[in-house]
Amino acid sequence: MLGRIGGMAVGFFVPEACPVCAGAAPGPDGELCAACAEGLRELPRPRCGRCGGAADSALDACGECLRLGPRPWRHAVSVFPYGGTVRDLVHRLKYGDQPYLARFLGRRMVRAWEEHGTGVPEIVVPVPLHWWRRLRRGYNQTALLADEVGAGLGIPVLPALVRTRATRRQALLDIDRRQANVRGVFAPRPRWPVRGRHVLLVDDVLTTGHTLGEAAGTLLAAGALAVSVLTTARG
Ligand SMILES: [Zn+2]
Ligand SMILES: [Zn+2]
Repeated sequence: MLGRIGGMAVGFFVPEACPVCAGAAPGPDGELCAACAEGLRELPRPRCGRCGGAADSALDACGECLRLGPRPWRHAVSVFPYGGTVRDLVHRLKYGDQPYLARFLGRRMVRAWEEHGTGVPEIVVPVPLHWWRRLRRGYNQTALLADEVGAGLGIPVLPALVRTRATRRQALLDIDRRQANVRGVFAPRPRWPVRGRHVLLVDDVLTTGHTLGEAAGTLLAAGALAVSVLTTARG
């Protein structure tokens, strides 16, 4: 049986019109109308396997990843470039109390993993929110995305990480402060062991990768065999 940890099943608001154009009728889960869904531009090929973004050249990596060197994860996949309508959808999912958007975005993440992913992850782990932020928001958007990914790929979702302190929003910090902001912020949860397993780590946006790097490092230190990363967007 697959675990669902985001808790989206109960009492779920679904909009009466497409959440982007507000003109056409939405699908049963409140997803974008067909025209708006098709209008969302995905990341171009070739993709950078290290961050999931667009590769800059004939090499299989982008200039930023070549400059930064190896990351703790094995492979990363993303769906969209972060901007425009996608940025708006992610913001509404995170801050606009519109959790239903996780269904649409999560399904596109599944499709992107099936097209671009490598290896066979055995469990999905969401990047956790600090408990008080989850309490204020009422849900963890990343756990909702992870539920969709786990259901789509047919693998269980485990809340294997906990955030040990509240951090400032990475988007509000300059690059130099982002690493310090998240250093040591995650801890493994012994109840949900990852030892010997290939983990698919799920988050909404990969920008500098510091948060995902910390989370992946924590999973590897807890004995995970490998960590791959799947995000909605590459910032
Ligand atoms: Zn529409
Ligand atoms: Zn890259």
